[in-house]
Amino acid sequence: MNERDVTQGDWKVINPANGSVVETIQLAGVEQVHQAVAAARQAFPMWSRTTPGERSALLLALARRLEERFEEYVQVESTQTGKPLRLCREFDVPGSIDNIYFFAGIARNLEGKASVEWVSNLNSSIRREPVGVIGSIAPWNYPLQMAVWKILPAIAAGNTIVLKPAELTPLTALMLVEDCLAAGFPPGVVNVVVGIGRIVGEALVSHPEVDMVSFTGSTAVGRRVMELATGGIKRVHLELGGKAPFVVFADADLDAAIQGAAAGALINTGQDCTAATRAYVDSSIYPQFVEGVRTLFGSIRVGDPGDPSTDIGPLTSKAQQERVVGFVNRARDAGALIEVGGQVTGDPNGAYYLPTVITGADHDSEIASEEIFGPVLVVIPFNGDDEGLALANDSRYGLAASAWTTSVIRSERAQRELNAGTVWINDHIPIMSEMPHGGFNGSGFGKDMSTYSLDEYTRIKHVAVDISGDAQKEWHRTIFSIKE
Ligand code: NAD
Repeated sequence: MNERDVTQGDWKVINPANGSVVETIQLAGVEQVHQAVAAARQAFPMWSRTTPGERSALLLALARRLEERFEEYVQVESTQTGKPLRLCREFDVPGSIDNIYFFAGIARNLEGKASVEWVSNLNSSIRREPVGVIGSIAPWNYPLQMAVWKILPAIAAGNTIVLKPAELTPLTALMLVEDCLAAGFPPGVVNVVVGIGRIVGEALVSHPEVDMVSFTGSTAVGRRVMELATGGIKRVHLELGGKAPFVVFADADLDAAIQGAAAGALINTGQDCTAATRAYVDSSIYPQFVEGVRTLFGSIRVGDPGDPSTDIGPLTSKAQQERVVGFVNRARDAGALIEVGGQVTGDPNGAYYLPTVITGADHDSEIASEEIFGPVLVVIPFNGDDEGLALANDSRYGLAASAWTTSVIRSERAQRELNAGTVWINDHIPIMSEMPHGGFNGSGFGKDMSTYSLDEYTRIKHVAVDISGDAQKEWHRTIFSIKE
């Protein structure tokens, strides 16, 4: 039996750099889901009545715990995912800490509308309340950041949560939940279950005591999660897959676009939902762009995540490596040209794959339209701005997009017309705690990070208070005649 067919008991977390076992943990089953949800339900009344100031103080303490354990988080994140230490030190861990500080701040800034007498003698106000128990499911590509994105807005707003991290990479999420307790969060506020998606994930999503489901992962699983949540009429927040276009107009700064394409396509070995995957390039500069990315991709150092000279590490699992191999081989068989890369590399026990640039693929081919989640960029020429934007938007996804131009007019047009939750101009990838992240269409709905995420995790209640003190209200006349 393949060890990845295990559904309960011992579960090995594998280092994809060399196939070694990082740690063996116990997989949760459905019973643990019940226990975790019961703990979250029990803690909810108490936690929802804490003041924003009290919640904020605990979030600050949590941020400081992560700062103290910074290097430990870096090492564990790198070993369980294969991310280079540099990426963990400069992106994953500091980004997560910044996010926690951000939510500690906005926990104290839950706003509503002014209280007003919209009809006479009746004062209307808005209560912004937590939703209840949140069932959250996260993917394996940014394990710590995804756990933070899921947990922090939920608890900052007064909800309690049960998180199911991806079973491939659960270790930093487990550390985070441990640190929540160490920081002083009462038991039951933040809970974690590590288990197989189709068993533990489905049990969590369909649990009757879960009020809202927040899912980050693939579009296919997101659809299933939504179906399950529908049965219980639960609130749903879905952050799904992407296939981000990268549109290079004729007047673009070519060097910036070439460097941006490499950074945007290769971050996290391409396992990024917003990664640049489809470069559409004006035909007047297409040969120079292809030549530039071919050379740059060919110079990227793929290797051991612990080596400071490494640019990109392995994919996060052998299964992901096989998936990328399959996509590229099928594209090659269909007649596409592999300009550079296109093969596995490095330690055969590892999950390495060379940075790859592909040309000659049709816009509607599998390689140009399906999410690969690997270090692969497909480059396609276009003729004229209308065609470039139309090709970029011709996708079932709508998570992120970028446009490259030195023209204000083209920039404005791209901002307006690109169908994506994030649009970058002359850059691709940067995210910040203050700004929302979330997609359109097949990439889901709802926002992570920013004050907008608090809208996901709060419900709006209208409260109307009679301020006349009269037994007989004016409007009663419409129901029965007023006695003199
Ligand atoms: P996945 O959909 O396979 O798994 C995501 C999570 O869902 C895991 O925890 C998994 O165990 C669980 N799961 C699997 N089957 C389930 C089921 N039937 N019911 C409930 N839960 C189930 O995704 P992945 O391979 O872990 O991650 C890669 C995907 O995540 C990519 O599509 C990527 O684009 C997406 N992603 C999106 C964002 C975003 O913000 N939009 C961020 C990161 C990753």
